Amino acid sequence: MQVPIDCLRRRVLRAIGGLVLLIAAGETTAGAATLDAPPPELATKVRVVVTTGMAADLLRQVGGDRLEVIALMGEGVDPHLHRPGRSDLRRMLRADLVIAHGLGLEARLAPVLRRLEESGRRVWWLGDLVPSESLRRDPAAPEVADPHLWMDPLLWATTARGLGDRLAGLDPAGADEFRGRAETTARGLEALHAEGLAAVATIPMPQRLVVTAHDAFGYFGRSFGLEVMALQGLSTASEAGIADLERLVEVLVERRVPAVFLESTISPRAVEAMLAGVRARGGSASLGGTLHADALGPAGRGADTVLGMIRHDLRVVVEGLGGDAAILEAEAPR
Ligand SMILES: [Zn+2]
Repeated sequence: MQVPIDCLRRRVLRAIGGLVLLIAAGETTAGAATLDAPPPELATKVRVVVTTGMAADLLRQVGGDRLEVIALMGEGVDPHLHRPGRSDLRRMLRADLVIAHGLGLEARLAPVLRRLEESGRRVWWLGDLVPSESLRRDPAAPEVADPHLWMDPLLWATTARGLGDRLAGLDPAGADEFRGRAETTARGLEALHAEGLAAVATIPMPQRLVVTAHDAFGYFGRSFGLEVMALQGLSTASEAGIADLERLVEVLVERRVPAVFLESTISPRAVEAMLAGVRARGGSASLGGTLHADALGPAGRGADTVLGMIRHDLRVVVEGLGGDAAILEAEAPR
C-alpha cells in the first residue's frame, strides 16, 4: 500500500501525539511542545530517518537530493546492541519515513519501531525487499534469518531496486530519478561482485576460509565462494567455547590458512587468543587486517559506503589469504 507523501505530511501533527506514548514519563510538557510544528524542510524534501550507516548510504545513493537522510547510529556503533535514546525518538517522530533493516538486526530498537508502525507512522523494513528464499537461515531455528544482507552485493542490489520502486510510489514526482539511481547503484554492486569473484579465484583453494570474530560474513562468503567460520555463533553454550576454539585452531593449522581477521566493531581479544593457539600448534597464521561488517568505516577512508566497505573487505581477505587483489585496485574507492 502506497500513500502519497503529501497525504503523509498532513498526518504529521496527528502523529506528534505518538510522542506522548513513546517518550519516557519524565519528559516535560515544555520539551514536547517544541515539537508542535512540522519543521520547514518537510515542505521541500522527504525526511528519512534510518537506523544504520549502511541504510543511510543506500538511501543517499537511491534518493539523491530528493531525500534528507538522517542515521541514528554513527560510525562504529554495533546495531545489535544500540539502545534508542530520547533524541532517536524525536528524530523518528519528525520523519516522513523511518527505515530499518529488520530481521532482528536492530534488536533493541525494534519494539519502538513496531510501536511507531502501530501508531500509523510509515516504517519500512529493508529485509522485506528481498525474496524470503534468498535469506540465510539458522538450520537449528529456520524462523531466524541472517540480517547482514548488505554483505552480499547481489542481494543489496535487489534491495536497491526494491527501494527505488517504493520511493517512486511515495514521491511520484521523483519516480524516474529514484528508479534510475537505484539501477546505477545496483549495477555498481553487480560489477563489484564480478570483480570480487575474479579476485577470490586467485586464492589457493584450501585457504579460501575466512575466520572472524562473529557471524556477520555468511552472505559475504556465500556470495564470493569463501568458507566462513566465526568464533561467535559456532555454539550458544559457553562451555563449548573452548572446544570450538580448538576446532578452529586445528582447521587453521591443517589447511595452512595464512590469516585470520578482526572486525571493526568487535574486541580483538578472542581472535588473538585463537592465533596464540595456532602458533602453539606450530601453525603460522597471522592477523590479516580489520574487516568492516556491522558499521561503515570512517568518512573519506574508502569503507564509508557499502560498496567501499565490501571492496575493502575483499581486498583485505584476498591479500591476507595469499591471493592477488590487483583487480580490486583498478577502481579507486570513493
Ligand atoms: Zn552483526
